[in-house]
Amino acid sequence: MISFRTYFNLHVRKVRIIVKSKSPLMKIIAGILWLSNKLGITNIQDFMGNYATTIHDRIYWPSSDPYMDDSPRLFHELTHVLEWHYRGVKYDLEYIFSRSKRTYYETVCVQTNMLINPKLQSQAYVASCTNQFANYGIPKSMVRKELNNRLIEAVEKRPQAESSLVAAAYRDWKMNS
Ligand SMILES: [Zn+2]
Repeated sequence: MISFRTYFNLHVRKVRIIVKSKSPLMKIIAGILWLSNKLGITNIQDFMGNYATTIHDRIYWPSSDPYMDDSPRLFHELTHVLEWHYRGVKYDLEYIFSRSKRTYYETVCVQTNMLINPKLQSQAYVASCTNQFANYGIPKSMVRKELNNRLIEAVEKRPQAESSLVAAAYRDWKMNS
């Protein structure tokens, strides 16, 4: 039996997973975030230890969280890889400079988890994710509205392409393993 990560590499996209503490780039980003936290723009505590960060096809895995193959965190980050894959530099720029686009992209990743685990198609999950993404410098009202859109799409079975693809890959992997 192969891991989901290997399955995804073989059948969807090639993805690299790197431990965050081993990346000089992540240390630089941690410094920038430290400053933006100080300025009150973001509130990201323990970026290196707590957060996974995906840049293009590389997932930087948080140092204090052992890598988990079959985890909501991995499903979330794989969705980011596809978002980048479909849009390239447009995605990078929109993610960094547009709050509304960043909100959209993050909520698509949340939708992946709603599809994989239908129990998460709930207002309680929307509420818990709303609080989490407010730390990304996005107003809560914006996050809540977009999360509700993703919830409705998931319930009505018309999800976003990237969520749908990650969830389908997971389903196929489960069936074949
Ligand atoms: Zn994300």
